[in-house]
Amino acid sequence: MELGEHPGHVLLLMAPSGSGKKSLVDSILANHRDIYFAKTYTSRAIREGVEENPLYSFVSVETFKKMIANDDFVEWAEYSGNYYGTPKAEIIDPLTHGKLVFKEMELQGVQQIRSIFPAEHVTVVYIDAGPWERLKERIVNRAPISAEELEGRRLRYEKESAYAQEADVIIKNHDGHLAEAIKNMEAVVNGLVKSTIRVK
Ligand code: 5GP
Repeated sequence: MELGEHPGHVLLLMAPSGSGKKSLVDSILANHRDIYFAKTYTSRAIREGVEENPLYSFVSVETFKKMIANDDFVEWAEYSGNYYGTPKAEIIDPLTHGKLVFKEMELQGVQQIRSIFPAEHVTVVYIDAGPWERLKERIVNRAPISAEELEGRRLRYEKESAYAQEADVIIKNHDGHLAEAIKNMEAVVNGLVKSTIRVK
């Protein structure tokens, strides 16, 4: 896809379930008014009692399917029985206006974005939170989960961690090293802010 004369940059964060993704996203949200946070549309239900992601719009399956039919999404995926997608307006518009666009995304979406935009305008960060056994402990301790759902997450972990080698940056977030992971993520964001945003 052609992006015009002064295109921006897309920063994608791919992080398996239980990897501390929320803390990293919260930190970027708190520290960066200089970047564009692209919204997710999802058919997933709001989790009761959980402070939900401010970057999500919760819609019905019907609405989501209509948006697919209207060709509204730049990418979308089915994940764990729910639909997730990025509307074109949330990524193409800011990108053509030279913005740094941040988006958290699972593997299928990352692959679609990489196939659409030129490689020099996309950075993929993968969060390495250690082996599955450690992630599994964190997931199981966080909230009740069925054996089936846990197995689904394991399979996705296998796929996503295999793709990590193709990420541009791998940030380690092993137990007890969250502050360091946040610092490293900040360094990536700040570097991209400097190289992307032009002072007119
Ligand atoms: P959750 O239900 O835990 O909020 O998200 C499930 C997965 O969907 C996570 O891996 C998250 O990164 C991913 N995700 C969130 N928004 C999008 C999106 O707009 N597109 C795609 N492809 N994945 C998304």
